[in-house]
Amino acid sequence: MYYPFSWLRSLGRVAAYFLVVTLLGWYFSELSIAIAIGALLLLAGHYWNIYRLNHWLWQSKKITPPKVNGVWEHIYDGIYTLQRRNRAKRKELGLLVKRFREGSEALPDAAVVVDANAAIIWCNRLARIELGLRWPDDAGRRIYNLVRHPQFIEFYHKKDYEKPIEVPSPVNDQRILEYRIMPYGDQHLLLLIRDVTKLTQIEKMRKDFVANVSHELRTPLTVINGYLETLPGATNIPEAFLAKAFKEMRSQSTRMQCLIEELLVLSRIEASNERTTENIVDVPQILNTIKIEADTLNSAKQHTISMDVDPNLQVYGVETELRSAFSNLLFNAIHYTQEQGKIHVQWKLVDGQATYLVTDNGYGIEAKHLGRLTERFYRVDKARSRKTGGSGLGLSIVKHVLNHHNSRLRIKSKVGEGSEFSFAFSHELSIKQTKV
Ligand code: ADP
Repeated sequence: MYYPFSWLRSLGRVAAYFLVVTLLGWYFSELSIAIAIGALLLLAGHYWNIYRLNHWLWQSKKITPPKVNGVWEHIYDGIYTLQRRNRAKRKELGLLVKRFREGSEALPDAAVVVDANAAIIWCNRLARIELGLRWPDDAGRRIYNLVRHPQFIEFYHKKDYEKPIEVPSPVNDQRILEYRIMPYGDQHLLLLIRDVTKLTQIEKMRKDFVANVSHELRTPLTVINGYLETLPGATNIPEAFLAKAFKEMRSQSTRMQCLIEELLVLSRIEASNERTTENIVDVPQILNTIKIEADTLNSAKQHTISMDVDPNLQVYGVETELRSAFSNLLFNAIHYTQEQGKIHVQWKLVDGQATYLVTDNGYGIEAKHLGRLTERFYRVDKARSRKTGGSGLGLSIVKHVLNHHNSRLRIKSKVGEGSEFSFAFSHELSIKQTKV
């Protein structure tokens, strides 16, 4: 039980002790020796308690103090109470730090805390992944010695943290990270880092797209404008020139029209939320119509176009979209095959999946282009594509249509030998039935 320390009581105890010693000394007629022995014993008792205290503080694993009496009991109790208070505070602080860490681990961003000297105090798991920091090895190291991009170092030292910066990741320079710095507390800084690769890619795609569309529209407009500027004032224009001018203007305006129509198709497909599982598309019938259009397109080149179509194979899907995908592949084969080539179209069940294949023995495509063919406006041979009236959007449309139908375009090609473009529909979308 705790009772307050009292000097009087303590002095009383010492006085009582020496009274007994004096009485003993007087009884044995050795007063001074008795007092000396008594003082030595008292001193030894204190040393013994100092030794025990030392042992308890530094060596013993026991939390509770040893049993003692007198003034030492107060000292032990005092230390014990302080220790208990500290332990409770440490526990509370530990819980707080744990909660803060858990919270920042849940952040979608990488977070690093640095002190006034830029030394890393703490970082979360994402920071270790995104910045390649090693923990705890990098604790105390300066952040700008680990993220060494010159733009980041300049940003850090400039101390103008209003706007974030975008810098390639120190781990993978293909990825772009956005760094935000927020000063807080005692000259500490919180760095928040976010992967913005996708956003910058989308922004770049948007810019490229606008640039490409402008470029594609400018070329035919320049041609038409050229004629319109020369024709009105000119006299005695030869009939042949006039015919050529009108033919050219017409072809350029048709080109613009096609381009705009394809752009509209593309944006319609991208925005489409029409369900692909509701309507059955009669593919054999669509292929019949496409074949008639292909024959017209083929009149100049005179390819042999053979069709191997399963008349009972249909699919679930969006008819307008699928018509566009089927025709694009066949028309491309006609465009990119030298005269009198061979084109083979197949619509059949392969491993239970309705499959469309267009094979030609045309120019073929170098392997390095294959991965990029479905990008908007990507053409292998610009001059050849323009001659065919191609906008560079055809395969991009096919890709979007197939995405919408959970399918993927497969391309096999060899330069000088020909190409095979194909895609397959899942079992769920393929319908094989006998017509009655
Ligand atoms: P385009 O409107 O130019 O035809 P596409 O997106 O349809 O655009 O095709 C992209 C490019 O892919 C074409 O410019 C062409 O170089 C190449 N390509 C497409 N189909 C074939 C094919 N069957 N044979 C060879 N090259 C092809």
